[in-house]
This record gives sequence, structure tokens and C-alpha cells, in this order.
Amino acid sequence: MAKVYVLGSAQDGGLPQFGARHAHDVAARGNPALQRLGPSLAVIDGERALLIDVSPDIKAQHERLLAVPEYANGGARTGMSAPPIFDAIVLTHAHIGHYAGLIHFGREAASTKEIPCFVTKSMAKFLRDNGPWDQLIKLNNLKLVEITPGKPFLPWPGLELTALTVPHRGEYTDTVGLSLNGRVLYVPDIDDWKQWPQARETIERHEVSLLDATFFSDDELGPRAMKEVPHPRVTETLKYFGELAGKRRLVLTHLNHTNPLCDPRHDAHKQVEKAGFEVASEMMSFDLGPVRVPAKVEVPRDFSAVVVTLPARADAATLPVMRAAAERFGVRDIHAHRIIHARQIEQLDSSSLATLFDLIEEVGKSGHEVIICDPPPALQKYIEVYHAQSALCKNFSLVDARGRHESKLIDFIPPFVPAPKGRVDIYTRGELKSFGFGPSELTPAPAVNLAEAVLSPPKWAKK
Ligand SMILES: [Zn+2]
Ligand SMILES: [Zn+2]
Repeated sequence: MAKVYVLGSAQDGGLPQFGARHAHDVAARGNPALQRLGPSLAVIDGERALLIDVSPDIKAQHERLLAVPEYANGGARTGMSAPPIFDAIVLTHAHIGHYAGLIHFGREAASTKEIPCFVTKSMAKFLRDNGPWDQLIKLNNLKLVEITPGKPFLPWPGLELTALTVPHRGEYTDTVGLSLNGRVLYVPDIDDWKQWPQARETIERHEVSLLDATFFSDDELGPRAMKEVPHPRVTETLKYFGELAGKRRLVLTHLNHTNPLCDPRHDAHKQVEKAGFEVASEMMSFDLGPVRVPAKVEVPRDFSAVVVTLPARADAATLPVMRAAAERFGVRDIHAHRIIHARQIEQLDSSSLATLFDLIEEVGKSGHEVIICDPPPALQKYIEVYHAQSALCKNFSLVDARGRHESKLIDFIPPFVPAPKGRVDIYTRGELKSFGFGPSELTPAPAVNLAEAVLSPPKWAKK
């Protein structure tokens, strides 16, 4: 099961902070156990690793991760050359503690290759328009993937994140918090809980929430400095979300070096504990659990597409049936994108592949796009080879094992709903018709119920 690790529980400057001589800094200099690193999380599933924010302490954080066998032995990290240090990155905003560690990803250091980096539009623009970050993109060390707050994205199948816009001073970019699989919430930076109307309801739905705890109370910095860097005070947070504690884990993180919670013997800890909260620490971990299926999947009102769920067996016996039936129902003549769920496939032969590519060619000619979701590795490999050489695949994209797809035309993918014999769902602007595959043809079926969607990884993706 995937786990979330706290790589850094300090505010952007870490503890000790550069140049600072607060008692906490002095103590931390003398005792490594008291040190806290820049704000960051990692998601490790034994196979892949996602980095959430890249703090200036990334080097030390990566060293610590190497002591986690699920990370060190996972995926291709055991390879000899150019291991993918992380399989994907998500950035919350452009304050130094959250992205400046990217300096180590370029040609002077790790020289990573095309790590998908999920960012909002403004963050993408910031990285593209400013040196030295633009070089990471020009040299393909990172591959920016723009995300839309509120819309889930999948770094890989079974890991679903949603960025949530939060109010936070935005000199360069907007700021997002992150929901992971609908279970773990991460909001390291926010000006004020009251300025985020969805705060309470969002925390309520998550099993674990890691929350901005930069300052404990008003008297930590001079009054003017406190105004310049607005953050909720821990004393307020304990009251504001007090009634939510106990039933779920509320974990305080992003501690400024002045925060009394940096001193393990300070009474502030008793106050936090009594209120049912916890204080984050380095390498603290949480089980992530599978994606929580949303109570209701919202289909965009103007959504039109033909969604084909391929049967478990797609071979010479089943494919012609699908094809003939599709023709009889006029599926061929429907001018819309095609989304193909391939995750059920257990058997696929070359004639089925040929049929699939005929379909891609036909749809491509009409300017529409084909997306294949969760193709099993063999199919994916075949398509990748084919894709690389063929102009045919211009209008075709793939949701690969990491959940990436390059579609610019389709921004909603109805989730997979099992149908062992296969199914066709036709969406036309708010209307939905479904057909099942009978022994020799397509037969009208009750409209697919998206509440039965399965968002966990396909069988073949599990270890
Ligand atoms: Zn921060
Ligand atoms: Zn910030």
C-alpha cells in the first residue's frame, strides 16, 4: 500500500534557519534530532515515488529516503544509470521552501530526464519564464503537466490528487493545497482558515490533514513582521477545527523556527495534544489507502464521447462481433472523441490490435481523438513502438501506467466501470446511452452507473 512520508516539517527556511540565533536555532545546531527540514512530502508505493514540493533540503531528504526500502528498492531506482529519482513531482507554489530544491535536477547535478511535474498554470508560466528554472524545461529535465485546481489528476493509476486553491500571498504564483486519494490532505501554506470557506468541510472528508502551523501565537515575531507574512496561529487552529479532532488525524506542520513546538519540552505540546492534534516530524508516515470513490462523478454538461470498455478477451472471436454491432448501431458515424478503457484485457491478439488501429485511424481522420486508458503493458509497448513511427497516431494519446495522457482535446475521462463482456457508452451533451455486448451484437443496456466506478489500479499494475 502506498505511504505518505513527511520529508520536511519546517517552514521554508528550515530549522536551524540560516543566520538565525533564536534559542531553537542554537539548540538545533547542537542536536541534529531537533532539526527540521524544508516543507515536503513523498508518496512511496514500493514501485514508484512522488515528490510533493522540492525544498532547498532535498539533498538531505533524498538521503533519508534511501533508508526506506520501499523507496530504495523500488522500480528502476535500483538500476545503475540515470535512475528516476522520482517518478513525478507536484509543486504547490513558488515560495522558496517549496520549489527551490529544483536546482539539483538540472545538468549541473542529477540531470533528470522528463520527470512529469504537475503544476498550476501560473506555476508553469513562472518556471517557463524565469531562469534558471526555464533551463530545466528546455533541457527536458522536467516535463511540465498543467493541472486545473478542483480536477483530479493521476501521477499513476491508483494515485489520484486534486489541487485545491487556497488564499496565500502570491507574489509569483497561486497556491494550492493537495488532496491525496481523497484521504490525506496537505495544506502547508495558507493566510487564514477563515478566508478559505471550504476549509472545514474539506478537512472533515479526509482521514489525515497536514495543516499550516507556521506560527503558534501572535507574539512570535514583531507585530509588523507578523502582518507581512499572514498565517493562521496554532492557538486559533486548535479552536477553529477543535471539534473535528479525535475522529481524524490533524497534524501540524510547516513550523517556523520561532514556533515553540520546535522545542520538544515546551508546554505548547501539551496544549496541542489536549486538543487532539499532533505535530509532524521528519519521516512520519501515513497509509494512503486506495482512491476513495467520490459519491458522485460529475459529467461535464457539454461532454460528448463514445466510451468503449473493451472486454476481457479481445480476440478474433469477439472483435468482429463488436465491430459489426458498432456499425449496426451507427457508432461509426458518431462524430465525437473515443475513450477506450483497456484495463480489463487479459487476452489480446494481433487481429484485435489491427481492429483497434483501424478505429484510431478512422476517428483521427475526422479530427477527433482517441484515448486509451490503462492499457496492459504488452499493449502499451506495442502502441509506444507504433506511436513513435506513425503519423496515424497524431490524434491518439495514451493514459499510461503513470496516468499521464497528452490529450489537449479531452479533459474529462469517465472512470472505468467493470463490464467483463465489454460495453459502449455514448455521451451526447448530457444524454447517455449504454450498450452491452451480446453473443452476436450490441444490445441496449441500462445507462452505466458511474457510482460503481473502480478507481484502484488495474490487476496487472498491482504487485
Ligand atoms: Zn511555505
Ligand atoms: Zn508560501
